[in-house]
Order: sequence, then C-alpha cells, then structure tokens
Amino acid sequence: MKQRSIIAVDGPAASGKSTVAQIVARKLGYLYFDTGLMYRAITWAAMENLIDMADEQAATLLAEQTTIEVQAASVDDGRPCDVLIGNTDITWEIRKPAVEANVSKIASYKGVRASLTAQQRKIGLRGNVVMVGRDIGTVVLPDADLKIYLDASPQERARRRYQELVSRGDAANFEEILAGVIERDRIDSNRAVAPLRAAPDAIVINSSEMAIDEVVDAIITLAEKMP
Ligand code: C5P
Repeated sequence: MKQRSIIAVDGPAASGKSTVAQIVARKLGYLYFDTGLMYRAITWAAMENLIDMADEQAATLLAEQTTIEVQAASVDDGRPCDVLIGNTDITWEIRKPAVEANVSKIASYKGVRASLTAQQRKIGLRGNVVMVGRDIGTVVLPDADLKIYLDASPQERARRRYQELVSRGDAANFEEILAGVIERDRIDSNRAVAPLRAAPDAIVINSSEMAIDEVVDAIITLAEKMP
C-alpha cells in the first residue's frame, strides 16, 4: 500500500458508512472524516438562528461564516468525535430527527456545498484518510485511491437507524424513519449539484445481507491492493 492514500466511502442515508469507515480507518491508522456532520452542523446552526430553510443566500452566508470544530471525543458516550460550533457541543444535537428533516434541503444549495467541499478537500488531500459522504468519490476527492459505494435496502437502513436511536434512548418510530430515509435519498439523488451517485470507478457493496465485519474485511482487502 502506498503512503498517504485516500479512501472515499459514499452511499445513501444510514447505509452503515460511518460505522464501517470508522473501523476501517482505525485498522489502517487513517483519519476518519464524516462530511455529513458538516451539513448537519450548518443545518443545526440555521435552525438555531431561525433562518428560513428556503433562504439559500442566508444558508450560504452561514456556511461561509461558521467554523465547525471536529475534535477527538472528550466524552465516552459512544461519540466518534466532538462536534462544536463556538463553545456549543452539538455532537448529539445534529443527530436529532429535526436536523435530519432539514439537512438535505440545506445540502442542496450550491453555495453551501462550495464552502463545505473546499474545507473537506483540504482535509482529504492530506491523505491517510477515510472520508465519508455522498459526493466524495465524484466531486470532493475524484482522484481517491479507492472508492466504495455502500448501499443497502431502505428497510434495512431504516431498521439500523431505528436501533441506533433506541440504543441512545431517543424516541423513534420505524415508519417515520423509513419515510425520512426515502425522502432524504430522493432529495440527495435528484439535486442539481453533486447528487448522490456511485462514481464510475467505485466498487459497489450492498450490505443488506452482510455483517459489519464482512463489509470491513471486504474494504480492507481492497485497500491492501491500492496502488
Ligand atoms: O451522512 P449523513 O446522513 O450524516 O448526511 C446527512 C445529510 O448531509 C445527507 O442526507 C445529505 O443531504 C448531506 N450530505 C451531502 N454530501 C455529503 C455528506 C452529506 O449532501 N458529502
């Protein structure tokens, strides 16, 4: 394996990208970076500032002016990292259904994406990174050494998200989660800028019937063959 490689992991909502990519990154000694948290953080900030979700200009300005801090987890409560805006710890706030209901709208805005993509590319190009999102292999890091597109059926993805929420003690309704997952995929796949797509050179893994370890092993095997 050559030094300072880049692994891109894309896929629809709750496809298991984060779980799998975190383990892969740990095994390889790479940085794990979840770009979804940036879109979630800007969405949280927009809601906090009572910005109209339909106001593209205001959302863009917010993305350009907001510093999202991602740092090593300071609390042992299952978080992969701390996410902060200013002094506010928003790690769990950004996982709440209210943010999830609005994030795809905010993420569809060209200006928001331009601002966050530039930050993500800077981090990614340092290498030795597993970067997770919707457009990493297609737009953010099109020269990544390995591109994975992780998919699973909407039902299986909703089931996983349901269990994740319940295990954290949050309220959860399976039917609502399923509808939310399908709606987010619809918006993410149909937007004009950087839609959710497998890059032509991505390796598609359907994890519906696979255990986490099996997906991890498959990616590690591919990573070992990276140029
Ligand atoms: O991956 P996660 O579910 O946390 O992403 C939340 C939302 O952020 C997605 O539904 C999508 O709208 C947006 N997103 C994106 N591009 C990325 C990562 C996330 O548009 N690279």
